[in-house]
Order: sequence, then structure tokens, then C-alpha cells
Amino acid sequence: MSAKTNVPFLDLRAQHDPIRAELLAAFNEVIDQNAFAGGPFVQKFEEDFAAFCRAKHAIGVGNGTDALWFALLALGVGPGDEVITVSATFMATAEAISYCGATPVFVDIDEATYTMNPALLERAITPRTKAIVPVHLYGQVADMDPILEIAKRHGIPVVEDACQAHGAEYKGRRAGTMGDLGCFSFYPGKNLGALGEAGGVTTQDATLAAKVRTLREHGQERRYFHSMIGWNGRMDGLQAVALRIKLRSLDKGNASRRANAALYSRLLADVPGVIAPAVAAHGVPVFHLYVVRVKNRDTVLARLGERGIGCGIHYPKPIHLQQAYAHLGLGPGTTPVAERCAEEILSLPMFPELAANQIETVVSELRQVLQQQGLPRVTAA
Ligand SMILES: *Cc1c(COP(=O)(O)O)cnc(C)c1O
Repeated sequence: MSAKTNVPFLDLRAQHDPIRAELLAAFNEVIDQNAFAGGPFVQKFEEDFAAFCRAKHAIGVGNGTDALWFALLALGVGPGDEVITVSATFMATAEAISYCGATPVFVDIDEATYTMNPALLERAITPRTKAIVPVHLYGQVADMDPILEIAKRHGIPVVEDACQAHGAEYKGRRAGTMGDLGCFSFYPGKNLGALGEAGGVTTQDATLAAKVRTLREHGQERRYFHSMIGWNGRMDGLQAVALRIKLRSLDKGNASRRANAALYSRLLADVPGVIAPAVAAHGVPVFHLYVVRVKNRDTVLARLGERGIGCGIHYPKPIHLQQAYAHLGLGPGTTPVAERCAEEILSLPMFPELAANQIETVVSELRQVLQQQGLPRVTAA
């Protein structure tokens, strides 16, 4: 058998090699100015990122989990409150709610877009609901207009988990500018990734922006004078300069991801047994992940791995079924669509530098793996 071409799930080297000299020069500048924890480089990145999102304010923080936590704290979410989100997300969305002392309440997702189903939102609202956190999963913005309409009618603020949706659009608006606050992760693998941990909060509201700034800085508005109990949640200067350099090519990278996704979907159209991602008419996604659905997902994943195709599952277990949330007593059937999708989803390799021939390889290997499904397995003697 001929040697297989390996296709990695993600190739960060391909992203960093062309800008290595620029990154190192910027790091030297930070070292020269001793501006490591917060400071002027972070401020410059905040200005650029706010402009990119078309938000009035952006605040650099330590990571995406901090961003969600500070956003909820800035809204006054605390013990006894409920926060509505989805169970089809990364753990951090729920963790941030729990770290406020509040309880996450999970509504199901729409099966086509894998984002919050607005038709199920209103019945989840109680007098204790203090915030709603839609998640723009895989880089597609949730159907925000009905969510915002319901939230407004009930006087409940909205926090967008935009950790997978830097630059994604909904009816011409960018992720992170529609709710009261937007939360971003700059974890290395995200569409905009630092060379370590970082995150950001966006908002159109100056008061909320000031609260998040205070929270990330030990609750101090002035050095050593603390108006509230905050946290050490600053962004590093080194991360800020790296992010500022990488931000310049984010629109281009997102466009490449869309082109890669379009090629995948075209090639997969005649592969039986694969559900390709749907692009909702309301938006422009940024394909943080390219997620298909197949039967016998775990076997397909293992076979693709043997053939050198790097795949992932985002995420294999909905949050309410995690051991960490067993105390909520929410069993199977709480969010049936999310639970069913979790069994079938498979993330194929996706990054801006992914080449057309690599996408062709992934699709051809997937086609062969699916063709073998159901056939008797021959084992060597
Ligand atoms: C990555 C991610 C987070 C958390 O971000 P970190 O920077 O890793 O803390 C939160 N929510 C979603 C949906 C994410 O994908």
C-alpha cells in the first residue's frame, strides 16, 4: 500500500513560520519596555480588536473563561441566579456561570446550526434568570434577533460566547456586538490565537467596560484602592503584541476557512452518510471548526486516525451529562438534540493554510472509511 499523506487537524507552524521574525521583533519591544502584565501593548491591541469587531470597547483578559466570568460578574450575576445557555458547548461556558455562584440552565440547540434554539428559550426563563448566554459554536452566530427580542421583553441581559466566532457576522453585525457583552478566547487554536493564553471582552456600554476593566485588575480603579473584589485577569503584553500582528490577517484567514469549508461541502455532497454543516442565511460564519455528522462516529474517527487524518470531537458529552454537573440532576433527555448530535459529530481538519489537495485527501479517506462500514472486518491470522 502506498504511503498515506497525513493531514493534521491543525497546523499552527504554518501560521507562525511566515511571521516569526515579526513576532520576535515585537517581543523584543515588550522586553525593552518591561510592559508584561497589561499595559500599553495590551491597550493598543484592545483598540485594534474593538475596531475589528466594530465594538465601542474591548478589554484584554487572561483567557476566554475569564472573559465569560467577568462579563457575568459585571452584570451582577451571583448566588441564587440562573443563567440560560446551551449544553452543546465547551465546559468553560458553564464553568463561568458556576464560578459566579449561579446555576446554568440548558436549552437545546437547533439541529441545523448547532446553536441555541430560540423557540425553546422563553420557557426556560424564570424569575431567577439573570442572563442568557448563546454560544456561536464552530464559528456560526446563533440566531440572535429572536434571542435578543425575548431577552429584551423580559429585561434580561445577553452575553455572547463568541470564543469560536472572531469576525463572524449576523445580518451585517459582528459577533460580540449584539448582546450586552461579547466574550472571546485567544487560545492558540482559535481563529485568532495567542502564543499562550489570552481572552477579550467586547461591549458597547462604557459602564460595563469599566466594570470588566476593574474586575480584571483586582477590583482596583486606582492602584491599591479596591472598590470591589476582583481577580488577576490581565492579558500579557507579549500576547498582546502577538495578537496585534495576527489580527491583521484574521479576515483573510477567515475567508480561507470559508473557502475550505465550501470545497469540503462540495466534495462531500456525493458522499453518502455524511451530514455537512449548514450555513444559515442570516450570517457569515468563520468555520472555527468544520463539523460533519456520521453514524458509528467513534469507529469512523479511529479509522481516519489510522489513515493519518487528524480529527476531533467538539464535544463528545453535553455539559449537563458531565460528572462535574451531576449535582444538577439533569439526566439524558434534557436536551435531546444536543445529546444525539454529540454521538455523531466529527470535526475534520480545518485551518486557513489547509490546501485543496489535503481537503481532497480527507474526503477521499472519509469516503473509503464509510464504504467499509458494515462490511465484515478481516483480521490478520
Ligand atoms: C475556547 C472556548 C472557551 C474558553 O476559552 P479559554 O481561552 O480556553 O478559557 C469558552 N467557550 C467556548 C465556546 C470556547 O470554544
